[in-house]
Amino acid sequence: MRVVFIGAPGSGKGTQAKLLQERLGLTYIGTGDILREAARNGTPLGQLVAPILAAGQLVPDELVNEVVAERLRRPDRPKHFVMDGYPRTAAQAAAFDKLLKEAGLDLQAVINFEIDEEMVVRRLVGRTGRGREDDCEETVRRRIKVFRDTSKELIRYYKRRGLLRDVPAADTIENLYQRIVKILQP
Ligand code: ADP
Repeated sequence: MRVVFIGAPGSGKGTQAKLLQERLGLTYIGTGDILREAARNGTPLGQLVAPILAAGQLVPDELVNEVVAERLRRPDRPKHFVMDGYPRTAAQAAAFDKLLKEAGLDLQAVINFEIDEEMVVRRLVGRTGRGREDDCEETVRRRIKVFRDTSKELIRYYKRRGLLRDVPAADTIENLYQRIVKILQP
C-alpha cells in the first residue's frame, strides 16, 4: 500500500500517518521530520534548510525531491509507505511520479484532509511550548498561507489522475483513522 497525505499544518495528517505505520506496518516518510533532523544535526542540508523551516516557508522543490529520491532509490527502499508532507507542490508531485515510475511503483490513493483554517491555527498555536519552534502564531499563519497558495494546484494534479479522496478532518483521531482505512481497504 502506497499513500500520500495532503493537509494543512495541524490537520492531523501526521498523527494519522503515524497510526498507519503502527497499525498497518507502512513505512512513515515525513519530509518535515527528515528536514528537522537534518537541521538539528547541522548537516549541509540541515544548515541550508534551518532558516527556511524557522520562517515557515517551503524548502525548494529540488532539495526535497532529492531527499525523497534518496530514500526510494536505495535497494532496501520501502515497498509500502505513507507520505506525510510530500509532495507539497504540483512540481514535487510530478517529480515524485517520475521517481515512482522508475521504481516500478504506483500510488493507491491521495488522502486530502479537509479542515477549517481557524481550527488549525487554534490547534497549532495551542501546542506551542510543547515542542516545535515553528508553532508560534505568526509562523503558523505563514505555513497555512503557504499551504493555501500551493495546495490548490497539487490537489488538482491528483484529482486529474483520479487518486484524490477527501476526508473531513475535524473529527476524532479514531473516527478519522477508520474513515481512512475504509478508503484504503474497501
Ligand atoms: P506542517 O505540515 O505542520 O507544516 P511538516 O513537519 O510537514 O509540518 O513541515 C514542516 C516544515 O518543513 C515546512 O514548514 C517546510 O518548511 C518544510 N517541508 C516539509 N515538507 C516539505 C516539502 N514537501 N516541500 C517543501 N518544504 C517542506
